[in-house]
Amino acid sequence: MTKVNIDWDKLEFAYLPTKTMYMTTKEGDKPWEPGALVPFGPIQINPCAGVLNYGQGVFEGMKAQRTKKNEILLFRPLDNGKRMEESSARMTMPPYDAQKYVYWVKKVVTANEEYVPPYGKGSLYIRPILFGSGPVLGVAPAPSYTFIIFVVPVGPYFKSGFKPIKLEITKQYHRSATKGTGNVKTVCNYAGTIKPALETHARGFDQLIYLDAMHEKYIEEVGTANFFCVLNGEVVTPKLGSILPGITRASIITLAKDKLKINVIERDISYEEVFDASEVFCTGTAAVVTPIGSITFEGKEHIFNNFKVGKVTQDLYDLLTGIQLGEKPDPYNWVVKVK
Ligand SMILES: *Cc1c(COP(=O)(O)O)cnc(C)c1O
Repeated sequence: MTKVNIDWDKLEFAYLPTKTMYMTTKEGDKPWEPGALVPFGPIQINPCAGVLNYGQGVFEGMKAQRTKKNEILLFRPLDNGKRMEESSARMTMPPYDAQKYVYWVKKVVTANEEYVPPYGKGSLYIRPILFGSGPVLGVAPAPSYTFIIFVVPVGPYFKSGFKPIKLEITKQYHRSATKGTGNVKTVCNYAGTIKPALETHARGFDQLIYLDAMHEKYIEEVGTANFFCVLNGEVVTPKLGSILPGITRASIITLAKDKLKINVIERDISYEEVFDASEVFCTGTAAVVTPIGSITFEGKEHIFNNFKVGKVTQDLYDLLTGIQLGEKPDPYNWVVKVK
């Protein structure tokens, strides 16, 4: 394994070029080409491509982690592959087979092994993208598609330990409409959330909490993470619908029920209810579990557990990261070994 010149202690969640990516295309009614590992770098694209003009594109986010024993592990990669199949179908794009997706994810990680940070220094973030690359002028499915898997080494999410974040509930913006594409990991959902995020950062918050577009009453999610709270000793999370069905969310639900023996309820949660929660946290691949220290609504800050990490939050974080790093039993076969 060649050495790369990266200061592992300074890694952030930011773009860095790596060595190798996987790329394949699909023309018209023909099947997906076999594709191949190719040098990472810019690609040529037709200015009339479906993705550039009408946002016909989806993505995934996963990570590969190095364990203490120097293995490299993936977490539930087939679930990401299946989610990408579903996302693609919603965007009228030909799905890429989930089993093959996992095969090529492993190949790309192996080909970039020197970019997988040492144990405890972060992870190799895996970004599969699938988009309409063929030219289309009217709003219609593109005639051809491209699927790429590239990787970027990223630092640990919590550099200075687990730190509860400050959030703000907005009624100024919605992330997704009822019956829209909120449950799909399509590129279309994200550009519009950048301005609200910058505005909330300027007001001193880490992220926004979006409410449902129909009633402006129920919590949807936190920017790019799913929402959870502990209410009267039960774990409560917004039901699926217009939220993104997170794989971390599904894993946390399983662990809370099976391992912590806590009742988990998926339902509508009004924001007023949340102010009485004993613990609040959000989940996603990058940070796994992020404790929420306070939520501000209409200028009033509601603080949870004195800005300290609650027991349920900590236990779920320890359980899930333990499984992901091969340090705790994995009865669900969630972990897939690359090396
Ligand atoms: C990807 C994503 C999540 C988290 O999903 P995971 O599978 O847990 O990483 C949550 N919300 C949004 C909007 C997302 O795009």
